[in-house]
Amino acid sequence: MKVLQLAGYKKSGKTALAQAIVARAVKRGKSCAVIKNIHGELGLTGKDDGERFLVAGAREAILFRNGLTDTLTMTEGLMDLIRKALGRYDLLIVEGFKESGLPRIWCGEKENPDEEKGVLLACFSLNPDKREPKKGEKCLKGLGEETLAAVDRLIESLPPFPAGLDCGLCGSDCLDFYCRGIGKKGRVCPVQEKEKSVTVTVNAKELTLMPFVQSLFRETVKGFLKELKGYEEGTLEITIHHQTKEDKK
Ligand code: SF4
Repeated sequence: MKVLQLAGYKKSGKTALAQAIVARAVKRGKSCAVIKNIHGELGLTGKDDGERFLVAGAREAILFRNGLTDTLTMTEGLMDLIRKALGRYDLLIVEGFKESGLPRIWCGEKENPDEEKGVLLACFSLNPDKREPKKGEKCLKGLGEETLAAVDRLIESLPPFPAGLDCGLCGSDCLDFYCRGIGKKGRVCPVQEKEKSVTVTVNAKELTLMPFVQSLFRETVKGFLKELKGYEEGTLEITIHHQTKEDKK
């Protein structure tokens, strides 16, 4: 999973850019999720139904409305949210959280106040005429094909997010490891490198599996197969041909 941050002040075009990136990625068959930091609009007031359940001690309140769910979850912060998305999406966009050190596109005409934080991949402005790029800055203007193609290339250049365990095996934490890996090819989280015992491919595309998911798969499948006649230890390969409605026609 790649993680891209869109940082900037209110009304700086972050949401418009996130929406365009998601729509484009989904069209290409990528699965996407967005984490958005909303200032001051949610809080445990105990007035809304979902919040009342959280105040009562529930870890999660899932509200269902016309086929959509609105989920409120107690969380320990950005890393906790990223961890929940790991292994489930190809691309995670983090909108806001400008104090975090993620590789970012800075949005809007105002200057980036946290220049020392994170890796600045590019600046983006919905209104191309209002902000002059600083020396060396890559400036993306408007939401046209040129901007979106440049964002595609930036996303492509990002390393995969590490295993998310914050175990310190690499001498750091996951966020720091990810940020330091920008622009460095072949830098793999030691946990991910070690736990490569299970690979799942769908239509020749390999899925990202968290270490605990790999061990869950391995033990479940082995537990089932070893009861069968002819089973022996070794490398297992299972291919499932799942017919789509189109195939059946
Ligand atoms: S070894 Fe991997 S999982 Fe552990 S802290 Fe480093 S990057 Fe995170």
